[in-house]
Amino acid sequence: MLTSLRRIVQEVTAAEQFDTVLNIIVSQVKTVMNTGMCSVYLYDAASQSYVLAATEGLHPESVGKVAMNTDQGLVGLVARKAEPVNLEDAESHPSFAYFPETGEEKFKSFLGAPIIHHRDVLGVLVVQQQQRRKFDESEEAFLITISAQLAGVIAHAQATGELALATSGDPRGATGTDSEKIYNGLASAQGIGIGHAVIVSSPADLYAVPRRTTEDSAAELEQLRQALENTKQDLSKIRHDLSDKLNTEEIALFDVYTAMLDDTSLAGEVIELIKEGLSAQSAWSQVIIAHIRTFRQMDNAYMSERAADVRDLGVRVLTHLQQSQTDRVVYPEDTILIGEELAAPHLADVPFENIRAMVSVRGTHNSHVAILGRAMGIPTVMGAVDLPWTELEGEHLIVDGYQGQIICQPSAQLLDVYQRVSEEQQSLAKDLEALRDEPNETLDGYHVSLRVNTGLRADTLLSRDRGAEGVGLFRTEIPFFLHDRFPSEEEQRKIYREQLEMFAPLPVTMRTLDIGGDKALPYFPINEENPFLGWRGIRITLDHPEIFIAQLRAMMRASIDLNNLHILLPMITNTSELDSAMALIHRVYDELTQEEGYKLHMPQVGAMIEVPAAVYQVKDFAKRADFLSVGTNDLTQYLLAVDRNNPQVAELYHSFHPSLLHALRKIIADARDVNCPVTVCGELAGDPLGAALLIGMGYEGLSMSSANLFKVKALLRNVSRTELGEIAEQVCLLDDGVDIRNYLQQALDRPALTRLLHPVTTQTGDRA
Ligand code: PEP
Ligand code: MG
Repeated sequence: MLTSLRRIVQEVTAAEQFDTVLNIIVSQVKTVMNTGMCSVYLYDAASQSYVLAATEGLHPESVGKVAMNTDQGLVGLVARKAEPVNLEDAESHPSFAYFPETGEEKFKSFLGAPIIHHRDVLGVLVVQQQQRRKFDESEEAFLITISAQLAGVIAHAQATGELALATSGDPRGATGTDSEKIYNGLASAQGIGIGHAVIVSSPADLYAVPRRTTEDSAAELEQLRQALENTKQDLSKIRHDLSDKLNTEEIALFDVYTAMLDDTSLAGEVIELIKEGLSAQSAWSQVIIAHIRTFRQMDNAYMSERAADVRDLGVRVLTHLQQSQTDRVVYPEDTILIGEELAAPHLADVPFENIRAMVSVRGTHNSHVAILGRAMGIPTVMGAVDLPWTELEGEHLIVDGYQGQIICQPSAQLLDVYQRVSEEQQSLAKDLEALRDEPNETLDGYHVSLRVNTGLRADTLLSRDRGAEGVGLFRTEIPFFLHDRFPSEEEQRKIYREQLEMFAPLPVTMRTLDIGGDKALPYFPINEENPFLGWRGIRITLDHPEIFIAQLRAMMRASIDLNNLHILLPMITNTSELDSAMALIHRVYDELTQEEGYKLHMPQVGAMIEVPAAVYQVKDFAKRADFLSVGTNDLTQYLLAVDRNNPQVAELYHSFHPSLLHALRKIIADARDVNCPVTVCGELAGDPLGAALLIGMGYEGLSMSSANLFKVKALLRNVSRTELGEIAEQVCLLDDGVDIRNYLQQALDRPALTRLLHPVTTQTGDRA
């Protein structure tokens, strides 16, 4: 059964059309289970019923005509109970309903399994037999397994609009009019971006090549010819180098490869597509993917494994094509940057002022690129898993960073609505700017230090103009992303000096290199199964003292005469890490001052509290460090065991989860007991509701994206510290994150904050 299952899944994955998927399922399941019929019913939101979508065994004319709601028939019963129904004699069951147009009267036994995705019953898969018999356990298990596999495919078809029968209540899906398509993702940085898509893709990934057209087919053909020639030379060299290690048959395979590159084979098809106007890379990847699919579908195991060879060949040629690519990507003035997994290095080449919005198929609100989006005020949507991103090059789009939507081919009417909302938001931002020189004080005169999180030069410049009281978190890994090797000590010194000078005499907290997790340097790859629990942050820098020491030297040398440097250590999990890091910091300081004669103040050194273990060692860390800084982004991920990058579990990543609140309360209480200053630099500090909560708990320093600075200031200036204290007390009694958020929202609602706490929604034009 496992082989059959694998085969069905392979065929389904290879199928291009959703109709084909359904037909494969019903015919294969019928054959493998040796039943009289197999049918699939799919939920239709419009009629609120399960409609026969494909069958093998019932009259084909009944497809699309037979429908049952959850109160009707056995299919309705399976959907209602959301569990399998296995009957020896279907007709005698009280829920049985007869549909003469199907020709089902000849079948006696019935087995139906629900097709469930994210708790929604999307459909029902049914098999029936002519003889009266109960299906056995293994048959039931097989049908359940197939249904579970089918669920993902159906959900995807629904989301991309391939399936007209839409499921109710599914949060992600393509909707809209015929020309207008709306795709959902996760709202990750507020704002509206209207512009043209530019696709950024990872090199040598056949599936990540955007569909680009060309005006200059001759040049593309020449690039292809060159890439094929280079690949042939590579193959011939490998063949030569391996000639004494391989047998004759294996050697012959290289000849087959080379022959496949001939004009009469793969290359011939690619040439045709280029002549029709496709770019060489797009044409090559399209042809190769089609061939991989064909090989995978072949019955013969040997042939289906040849798919891997075609893929390998495809990647080799693509690599040469990408190397020879002469046309640099052009970023129009209204660039909407789209990628499968957008990351900070992708931003390096793009002129900042041209970026209107960012969209990533993978990742969530808490991914680093989303944090950068917020820092720079660029509307960002992450986790747009169903977006046909490779096909969007050059398309006119709206990105709605409030609702987490991408609208392709928007109508003039919709563009108008978005334009209006965008203007409204800009006017709010402008009004908030008036707060620039006002003190960061609550109504009862309590001062809260508001600092900024920085990383890119662009966001540093923005921050400085917004009256921040210094930098609470400079993510030093960001400049590291923008190099193609580790920056030298002197290169780093210059970057740090600029940062320290821009804010002097205000403090600048520089975090030592925090790579690993979702932050891989292109020139220092870390391949791990479980990167967030792996080699990350301080673990890497302690294992590589040469990298750590160069960074510490650069930071300290950069601070000469300014003396506003604070150093922050990421991912500290135990005291020995902190001791080792402190020892290296002191060593560097001593070397610089005593051996090299620099005149320096010893910087203050802090530890991040961002893993659960650290919450329980606040006092131990406080004995060793000058200050503590809470990283709520990672603390939430580790406390709730929810990957901050995984859209599948994004709803579980709740920044107001009661456990997080209790952890935050414990941290501030323990830090106060030992008189250690503690600030918060995670995203919670930049959410006006989160900031209110933290101030209420007693935190006196918050660091946030500069885009949020005025919003938090507006909140602060319209509430009293006493009131926030009471609110914090109350919410800590609640046991659910959603309730906590709602409570905060209601408790803080007042006319001066309405526009801030209830932004205008683009869908209705009303306040949410
Ligand atoms: C955090 O984890 O809260 C934090 C501020 O660091 P980063 O988001 O860079 O991991
Ligand atoms: Mg962190």
